Amino acid sequence: MKFSTKAIHCGEEPNLKEGGCGDVVTPIHLASTFARTEIDKPTGGYEYARTGNPTRKALEKRLASLENAKYGLAFASGLAAETTLILALLRNGDHVIVFEDLYGGTRRLFDRTLTNFGLEFTYVDATRPEKVEGAIKSNTKLVWLETPTNPLLKLCDIKAISKIAKEHRLITAVDNTFASPYLQNPLNLGADIVVHSTTKYLGGHSDVVGGAILVSNDELYAKLKFNQNAIGAVPSPFDCFLVLRGTKTLALRMDRHNYNALRLAEYLNTHPQVEKVNYPGLKTHPQHELAKKQMTGFGGIISFYLKNNVDAKIFLSKLKIIALAESLGGVESLINQPASMTHASLTQKERDRIGITNNLLRLSVGIEDVEDLKADLEQAFQGDNYA
Ligand SMILES: *Cc1c(COP(=O)(O)O)cnc(C)c1O
Repeated sequence: MKFSTKAIHCGEEPNLKEGGCGDVVTPIHLASTFARTEIDKPTGGYEYARTGNPTRKALEKRLASLENAKYGLAFASGLAAETTLILALLRNGDHVIVFEDLYGGTRRLFDRTLTNFGLEFTYVDATRPEKVEGAIKSNTKLVWLETPTNPLLKLCDIKAISKIAKEHRLITAVDNTFASPYLQNPLNLGADIVVHSTTKYLGGHSDVVGGAILVSNDELYAKLKFNQNAIGAVPSPFDCFLVLRGTKTLALRMDRHNYNALRLAEYLNTHPQVEKVNYPGLKTHPQHELAKKQMTGFGGIISFYLKNNVDAKIFLSKLKIIALAESLGGVESLINQPASMTHASLTQKERDRIGITNNLLRLSVGIEDVEDLKADLEQAFQGDNYA
């Protein structure tokens, strides 16, 4: 099946067998436990809802199908997925190589929580695969990538880096949240593990927090599955239902996100009050060719630097349709100032080094009419309260 068909049917086949009522939508199974007729065998395949329940199973199958993975695992948040992944696969003394430009919360988890457990993280500029190779040590176990990155929209070559990692017997994990499975499938490019914050495009409506891990390797799956239950950071049945519902329109939404974002990126790119635009769909993006090769669309996130005569605070306060908020990937457009919001957990020095300055704004372009979004930005640029 092709993507849009899988997104509607995989994991959610109506039960037309004896006793099934044929609902075309998977019910929200609220039971915390499942009765059995025999002591040593769960009759319906389920025992306790932390271990598994039918609504979560439907979502896990759906997400696996969208990433062309054999297995899917759902979690209570993207960070719950990341934490489970690291605790399941690594131990005290292990070393991880990480793309230096990444979601602030991931960096906070690695540097401020997981380092307390004897794990070591090295941040490199993974836009150059040789930098990843150069950081490999005898205790390196995992390469952690995010592409495109948050908030600078840098890309890394998943195929090239996965190949290097394989040669050194390292696991490659890719946070595919920004692209969504509609635009990029890291497992097809050689990665071992895909991670998602389903809070973003997969859920798509800014009404649920969730995460997922997708794998095809049996051994990795066994470890992750064991720890999904052992650690217990699982999503509620209602949250699973919401993400499952969101996936059905993912293809349609992503097409519109792509369309709107490219138009706004082009508008901002020639705007006299904008210093620079980061968007993989622009020919001026240093990795535009890689984006064309690795992704099937350029996504819905843009970041841009305001010229220094435009006060970011005033600009943001003037927007009427585009909401000033953290998060991304919903149907509604959201904007934020990474330095003070999503990436505030980084030190000033670290932010300056990477390029997360106060005049950098990140725009998650929604699926509204693009002319309305453009007009909203334009009226915020205008006015006599700028220098
Ligand atoms: C939001 C996000 C996360 C964290 O996910 P939560 O669901 O908020 O825990 C991880 N990676 C990326 C790229 C994100 O945007």
